[in-house]
Amino acid sequence: MPVLPMTREVLAIDGGTPVRKTFLPYGRQSIHDDDVQAVVDVLHSDWLTTGPKVEEFEHAFAAWIGVKHAVSFSSGTGALHGAAFAAGLKPGDEAITTPLTFAATANSILYQGATPVFADVSDDTLNLDPEKAATRITARTRALLPVDYGGHPADLAAIRELADRNGLIVIEDASHAVGARYQSRNVGGISDMTAFSFHPVKHLATGEGGMVTTNRDDFAETLRTFRNQGLSSDARTRRTEGTWQYEMVLLGFNYRLTDIACALGLSQLNRLEENLSRRREIAALYAEAFRDVDAVRPPEVRADSDPAWHLYPIRLNLDRLMVDREKVFRALRAENIGVNVHYIPVHLHPYYRERFASGPGEHPVAEHAYERLISLPMFHGMMDEDVTDVVNAVRKVMDWYAR
Ligand SMILES: *Cc1c(COP(=O)(O)O)cnc(C)c1O
Repeated sequence: MPVLPMTREVLAIDGGTPVRKTFLPYGRQSIHDDDVQAVVDVLHSDWLTTGPKVEEFEHAFAAWIGVKHAVSFSSGTGALHGAAFAAGLKPGDEAITTPLTFAATANSILYQGATPVFADVSDDTLNLDPEKAATRITARTRALLPVDYGGHPADLAAIRELADRNGLIVIEDASHAVGARYQSRNVGGISDMTAFSFHPVKHLATGEGGMVTTNRDDFAETLRTFRNQGLSSDARTRRTEGTWQYEMVLLGFNYRLTDIACALGLSQLNRLEENLSRRREIAALYAEAFRDVDAVRPPEVRADSDPAWHLYPIRLNLDRLMVDREKVFRALRAENIGVNVHYIPVHLHPYYRERFASGPGEHPVAEHAYERLISLPMFHGMMDEDVTDVVNAVRKVMDWYAR
């Protein structure tokens, strides 16, 4: 990979020439002609929603993961809400999760009227620290919600053990981790329920969309009922059975994923393996390129895990820099590198602060990481030249601001 020499070049933010002429986003879908055709075919069919493509996609996804059931939802957030419902979370209950996640993880607990309790993360993977989680367990705790941050599986064995010891249900938020492997098993078949997202920046894009996978028949049945208004049968089943009768058995929502989206998902699933290998290649190129950049701490990978690389979150060694993360972020954006930050710790969002009187200092590892985190572009459609641009821009900015 051609890398710029170590001469200090004026940064684009100060009027220099940007490393790239065009903006490189941090994540992006890839849509091929066969994806387009699959959607067109559905548009010409009898069913735009709750038709045959839904089951086809669910079966194919479950088979790909190696899990008994996959239940589709209209978003990853809906999938998490469904899992929280199926786990029986209710007012008065508590569920423990990580602060270093997208708000939807913790919000799914709130949707059920239960209380999210945050426990700090481990410094290496930035995933929920099982030891910290153990200290937050009370008589009211009912579930654990680890997140596979960036695509690196959470510490699932320790979390399982903690759950078993305390009679808790594990809902894994694997929105980042389709295709990740943990102790030689696929994420999606390990926890009691695992939620996925098919938002365009994720590995498999359906526009909006999500899935819950589980090996438990009772959870699968509740999830199917919940996403369809709490009805005991769906429109297609009624048509097949020649009946009009249905009963509402629980208070559900309309969280159905359309046949249009499922056809796209099925088509995208054909390239998932290939896309994962490309992401792993890009991660390896980055790791190699940043080995000698003191100001950059690349993401760490545990020996028992094979991440899916949704994100490539580096941490800045601020004591090697004259500026803070904000300045580095803006300098990289000026170079046309679409860096991002994942995430503002959830307990620091105004809504959470006001409702739970939470604030800085409660989860020092997550907060320390947050001050230093920058997600570099990472998506399977990235070309080698794109990777080189990111590496050159990072080196350029780090050289300029080096202390
Ligand atoms: C993307 C994401 C979600 C929610 O997914 P949507 O499909 O956008 O609703 C939930 N949790 C995490 C960690 C995510 O990254």
